[in-house]
Amino acid sequence: MPASLLTTIETSALPFEPYRTTPVAELEARIRSVKAELGEALLILGHHYQQDEVIQFADLRGDSYKLAQMAAESQLCRWIIFCGVHFMAETADILTRPEVDVILPDMAAGCSMADMADLDAVEAAWSDLSDVIDTDDLTPVTYINSAADLKAFCGRHGGIVCTSSNARAVLEWSFAQRKRVLFFPDQHLGRNTARAMGIPLAQMPVWNPAEPMGGHSEAALRASKVLLWRGHCSVHQMFRPAHVAQFRQQYPDVKVLVHPECQMSVVDAADLVGSTEFILKTVNEAPAGSTWAVGTELHLVNRLAAENPDKTVMFLSPMVCMCATMYRIDVPHLAWSLDNIAQGTPVNIVKVPDETTHWARVALERMLDVK
Ligand code: SF4
Repeated sequence: MPASLLTTIETSALPFEPYRTTPVAELEARIRSVKAELGEALLILGHHYQQDEVIQFADLRGDSYKLAQMAAESQLCRWIIFCGVHFMAETADILTRPEVDVILPDMAAGCSMADMADLDAVEAAWSDLSDVIDTDDLTPVTYINSAADLKAFCGRHGGIVCTSSNARAVLEWSFAQRKRVLFFPDQHLGRNTARAMGIPLAQMPVWNPAEPMGGHSEAALRASKVLLWRGHCSVHQMFRPAHVAQFRQQYPDVKVLVHPECQMSVVDAADLVGSTEFILKTVNEAPAGSTWAVGTELHLVNRLAAENPDKTVMFLSPMVCMCATMYRIDVPHLAWSLDNIAQGTPVNIVKVPDETTHWARVALERMLDVK
């Protein structure tokens, strides 16, 4: 069970099981009814990777960064239902007013990338590194796709959070403070961003937490500029340069647009790389008749194609690359969590402990201040 899940499911709460077999139309009617009943006290946030059946009920949509901002700015609500994954709900809890409860409809909706770096492993790495380099001159940078206690680690050690929208600005901020960065958990975002800033690959060793000293010599660590954690997104790592080549062969006018969580060889083969919001803006503003192959999560690409019928928008892989954990948030779980709010037995409240909240907020606010 995640450390931030403080609430228990009360025995008087409605059980989930009957929702599995209730007709979807009935569940959807129930969701609409509770939304109407709670009015502005309820805010449903939906991540772009969410399935259509769920996103139709979102009051606001966004990527991790935009949703974090929206949560921070929410002034009227008492309840936030977060249709995303666990770290996003934690971030919303950290940034919202204390009286707001953030609910994740299915607590099993995690993020495989976030799970690749945990606090014990990062603290052990920090301790090992302190034997070789001056950690007062090392900025820990965590991608927003990480647990709250890692954000707090960054807050305590002069570090910061980044997203795929602001990773470059955050690295520039970091290098203005100190000469080295420890970047976790996504090696690809770290590498793609740092390389675009002109940092040589030779100065970006990948820290393997399973090996002594991350698998590197002291000399290599001393020569490093960005230490990349050995983590990745299981969805974005599915894209390959060969997929890009196939599309170029079949559609000579195609523009290939990928997310920076893709591996470097895919980014190199693409025409454009950018965050989820960048991908949406680029395709939405593209001229009619243009052709796009997009390397990011499947639900987002399918929705983008449906919303841009005057363009050809295709998914950059023959395989189904969808975020399986986010897919756990479905209509039955959404209806179940709303019904429980309505009857006064809220379930799945994500509550980050106060000390962690304080330091994670320090790191998040540093990020929100970076322009
Ligand atoms: S798409 Fe990848 S990084 Fe994003 S939530 Fe899913 S597993 Fe995590």
